[in-house]
Amino acid sequence: MYKHPLLDRDKMTPAEALDILIEGNHRFINNYSVEKDFQSLLRITRDKQHPFASFLSCSDSRAPVELVFDQALGDVFSVRLAGNIASDKAVGSLEFSSKYLGSKLVVVMGHSSCGAVKAACDDFKDGHIGEIINLIKPSIRHEKTVTNPEQRCSKNADFVEKINALNVQYQIDSILRMSDIIADMVEARQIGIVGGIYDLNTGKVNFLENTLRI
Ligand SMILES: [Zn+2]
Repeated sequence: MYKHPLLDRDKMTPAEALDILIEGNHRFINNYSVEKDFQSLLRITRDKQHPFASFLSCSDSRAPVELVFDQALGDVFSVRLAGNIASDKAVGSLEFSSKYLGSKLVVVMGHSSCGAVKAACDDFKDGHIGEIINLIKPSIRHEKTVTNPEQRCSKNADFVEKINALNVQYQIDSILRMSDIIADMVEARQIGIVGGIYDLNTGKVNFLENTLRI
């Protein structure tokens, strides 16, 4: 039976929160899920939430955070926007979960073959989609290894994945630059922050060592 760890979460460290996510993703890729009593969880979380981790991840239908980490009601605070962009409202949501809900870890999660990242690679603009693309384009400017302009587009899968990783790093940098609340909590080691890429082929989330601050 699933044991809701609500009462233990005050003592949880950011590293422990990351371990829980890694274990949950391991269950997912092995096609195994902890049994969950949703009716019981409804009652436990009815008046209070205390998520242990906060996510800024893509809206892609193939990358739902709760499923790929085998989590349940009340476990993760999930902000989802195409391209996992750190818009001001996304950052405000992460501030809320970190400072007022006790979440111990901020995870910025991109995924392979991301349509928003591909659109940014091709400088696609239509309606409000351009507002999303504008927050991804700095990562394209940061990418210096692909020098042939014809190769710097969504048709080049390697280029897309390079931008994907750079974009996760850039969104983390944006969060820390925009939010004194989150930057101060990371500095004080009250919370951690990490980036990751979800692989649509394998279901595995590869956490990016160079982004880890715990
Ligand atoms: Zn995406």
